[in-house]
Amino acid sequence: MRRNTFETKRRRPWLPGIILGLLIGFVYFGNDLFLKFESTTPSRSFGTPGSGRIENAKRLPTSGPNFEAYSRLGASLGRASVHEKVRQVVLEAYQQMYEIDPQLRFVYGETGWPWGGDFYPHKTHRNGLSVDFLVPVLEFNSSSVMPHAIWTAWGYNNDFDENGKLDNFKIDFKTMAMHIEEVGKSAQKNGLKIRRIIFAPDLQKLLKKEKLGRKMMRSYRFSKTEAWVRHDEHYHIDFRVR
Ligand SMILES: [Zn+2]
Repeated sequence: MRRNTFETKRRRPWLPGIILGLLIGFVYFGNDLFLKFESTTPSRSFGTPGSGRIENAKRLPTSGPNFEAYSRLGASLGRASVHEKVRQVVLEAYQQMYEIDPQLRFVYGETGWPWGGDFYPHKTHRNGLSVDFLVPVLEFNSSSVMPHAIWTAWGYNNDFDENGKLDNFKIDFKTMAMHIEEVGKSAQKNGLKIRRIIFAPDLQKLLKKEKLGRKMMRSYRFSKTEAWVRHDEHYHIDFRVR
């Protein structure tokens, strides 16, 4: 027995390499592969973002010309799945932003599981109608993306101060307002409505300084108080199916 075990081990030196290769392949290409084989059955959301569920949620693509997911691993695991109409809205808004200014860069955050339901550590994101958008930032006055590697909890552990600054990065409130406007327009077109936007109240004051930011704050319901966790590095949008 002992001799056999030893020989088995010796005969498979490639096994760890194969496993590592598969894991890396899953992280890098898993989301796009799942996307290729997704069901064409329409999405159906039930209940509210805080207590509902979804059937046939669709994955957001890992990246596009001007955007990327907060984490390839998260996307491959399915943590960036939404109602098909929400996906349409997210992608159309990015496309519109590309037409407005192809230099602008965006990162989307977590959205929900393909099957919906409890989405730890989030309190909502249960019925495919919630999306986190990492704030667009300027780095030395150029459009950039804030660090969102694993050691920053994929961007969620970045802390912006009350002036909207973090190291070399500054929240690009003007671009954020433009993005919200495009999300709202696309939602209208696709049979959705923006239900509410959660963003840190102290940073809303800076968004309000932008003319378009003021307009967005009049058009949509923004959170009035601090949420269970400070929403400074991302703004959370809940949609409603009209
Ligand atoms: Zn959220």
